[in-house]
Amino acid sequence: MESPIESYLRTIHREISDLRDGKPYSTIPAMANVDPDNFGICLTTVDGYMYEIGDTREEFTIQSISKPFTYGLALSDLGMEAVDAKVDVEPSGDSFNEISLAPGSGRPSNAMINAGALTATSLVQSRGGNTRFRRIVNTYSQFAGRQLGVNEEIFRSEVEHGHRNRALAYLLRSFDIIEDDPTPVIEDYFRQCSVMVNCIDLSVMAATLANSGRNPLTGVEAMDLLAVERVLSVMTTCGMYDDAGSWISTVGMPAKSGVGGGTIAVLPGQVGLAVYSPPLDEHGSSVRGMATSQRLSRDMELHFVRAA
Ligand code: GLN
Repeated sequence: MESPIESYLRTIHREISDLRDGKPYSTIPAMANVDPDNFGICLTTVDGYMYEIGDTREEFTIQSISKPFTYGLALSDLGMEAVDAKVDVEPSGDSFNEISLAPGSGRPSNAMINAGALTATSLVQSRGGNTRFRRIVNTYSQFAGRQLGVNEEIFRSEVEHGHRNRALAYLLRSFDIIEDDPTPVIEDYFRQCSVMVNCIDLSVMAATLANSGRNPLTGVEAMDLLAVERVLSVMTTCGMYDDAGSWISTVGMPAKSGVGGGTIAVLPGQVGLAVYSPPLDEHGSSVRGMATSQRLSRDMELHFVRAA
């Protein structure tokens, strides 16, 4: 017997399936042959209930949804002050791959755009016998509650075609924002973007943020509360790049999009939402991800003003 929430999700999934705008990401050739009709929605509550509909087991690359989790790891490792010295917390109003660096210092506006995300990756160091990337993927895995891995084909395609990210990293090196050799930093950034997830993983990751950093399914603390607080703040103002204002007005939750077609939204203390649908709008965010989040926010009163 289907619960009322499951039949509600079935209805909105069917309605939003009619939305056919947008195009899957094509800058990375290995990502272009995705099925544009894939569409999944998953909600996980902080007390561990999960509701799903559609293609929730289909795997895709996490892309920019990785950024808040790496930023949080850097904050936990180094503390707020050291990270703030390298990356600011101001919305840039620019698109995700913009060269948004402060004049003079070269400090990126925030850790959600690529310049700031490359910097955050550079701040995570190997520790306790684990490489930087192992530590990054282990953190994502604790958030998801299962071991995640890299799609090697997409990783190689990012290495081959990610010229703009390479340029950004060298520019950051010239300002001493990135202090080490940029090459391994760029590779680890491409690797983190190429981590495979499904809609369920992303909703558990979002629910872990909603649950102050503790995974509601495994009980494991994936991140300390201070880092979570900062991550959610920056997701609120910068997670949707140059669409952040319209997003917070119509959805009212901290969120992050990725060009793989994933979108997460977090209602602190209550629920994590994930949507998977590859066609993207002009901001690099999923068209159905936006529509679904707006619809759920309105119908379930998830906007932070109403949910309070
Ligand atoms: N790998 C992509 C890039 O760095 C991720 C961007 C995104 O998801 N917005 O350009």
